[in-house]
Amino acid sequence: MKNVLIAVAAVGLLIPAVSAQRPQAPQAAPAPSLRALADDVSEESLRTMVEGLVSFGTRHTLSSRNDPERGIGAALAWTEAEFGRFSRECGDCLEVIRTGDTVTGQRIPEPTLVENVVAIQRGTREPGRVVIITGHIDSRVTDVMNATAEAPGANDDGSGTAAVIEAARVLSKHRFPATIVYAALSGEEQGLVGARILADHARAQGWQVVANLNNDIIGNSCGSDGTCDAGHVRVFSEGLRWQGGDALRPLVRGQGGENDSPSRNLSRFLDRLAGDLSLGLDVRQIWRNDRFGRGGDHSEFLNAGFPAVRLSVAVENYNWQHQDLRTEGGVEYGDTIDKMDFPYLRRVTALNVAALAALARAPMPPVPTVEGAVSPDTTLAWEAVPNAAAYIVRWRRTDAANWHESVRVPGSQTSHVLRGIRVDDWVFGVSSVSADGYESPVASAVPGGAFRPYTPPAQQ
Ligand SMILES: [Zn+2]
Repeated sequence: MKNVLIAVAAVGLLIPAVSAQRPQAPQAAPAPSLRALADDVSEESLRTMVEGLVSFGTRHTLSSRNDPERGIGAALAWTEAEFGRFSRECGDCLEVIRTGDTVTGQRIPEPTLVENVVAIQRGTREPGRVVIITGHIDSRVTDVMNATAEAPGANDDGSGTAAVIEAARVLSKHRFPATIVYAALSGEEQGLVGARILADHARAQGWQVVANLNNDIIGNSCGSDGTCDAGHVRVFSEGLRWQGGDALRPLVRGQGGENDSPSRNLSRFLDRLAGDLSLGLDVRQIWRNDRFGRGGDHSEFLNAGFPAVRLSVAVENYNWQHQDLRTEGGVEYGDTIDKMDFPYLRRVTALNVAALAALARAPMPPVPTVEGAVSPDTTLAWEAVPNAAAYIVRWRRTDAANWHESVRVPGSQTSHVLRGIRVDDWVFGVSSVSADGYESPVASAVPGGAFRPYTPPAQQ
């Protein structure tokens, strides 16, 4: 989406934050624009990180945890050291932890400690509000149980893990109102195990998760059939909210909302952001939860009720993922680093970095409700959102892909009447805007549209 440039987003890009908005760091320099943050993402740095990850031979979840040079244990320690290095450079601004559990499952026959390495950059003003970037550090070959063969996992998912580490490098130099969590997850190939562990941790900590940006296979641009596309990144999002299940269905039937889960609005947010920033990368919104019949770590965040999307390359190369390293009939198989497109990986990482910063600077999206049945007017209402200086009421035709009508109202207002707009014929949503101009994703005024786990009315 390139044609819809929203004025408020441009304001967000152009007007730097003033130090008064960050009372805990009154001496701080003005916050850099999203574009400047995106520009700090380095192709060389990403290449070095993927080389580092590949150097462990295999990062299979069931590989050695004790070998200092080969296997998942060494890879986790290396990632931890990278986060630690950035943290020292920012005055210990990152809390580096491991979240883990001893797990047995269909693809984990013996009880095995599955661990994630997680760096937490606490927000200065709303530390309980959290944005999470994830990639999976584990790798595999053809046989998902083979924990010893060479499994470089350069693209799947060295690329996503490198994006996580690079985001920490870039963003740890700055301060944000909300918390940013950088997570290298294990156990994806064994059944999304690490993602489940982190989602449980988020719940146990009471984190108010605004978004999980899950990056899985984001570093190649040509498919096995020779099709290439280095100008798009796919963003997968669920339309009907999964969490909420049967309790939501009758409400959605009655009021609509099949295309308005918070994850879908997160997808729209990323699409607009990529266009506004002119990163040389357009978002191709894919309106399904993941690739056909396949899955990824973001689903575990969705299961926990947290908005989540998967970012992935425009064109997958099936010869270069989940394959034993070999050449057959002149065709090379295997996920090796020479197949990667690092300028492309830089652009996808830049989009992630800008999105994390934008989400961490914007207030929480509101929780709007809409009324107007058998009336020519429609009324939106919402609770005041902490640190919101304004709200933007948005609406669109029910068959329109993106928001196309809007009105801005001051932060003192928590309702708005749209005269002559009939509730039956449109979808409505509200976003919140910070004093320095950062707009949150739109939360749709539909059942399950809020950026928080859905609770049936009886339990609220
Ligand atoms: Zn993967």
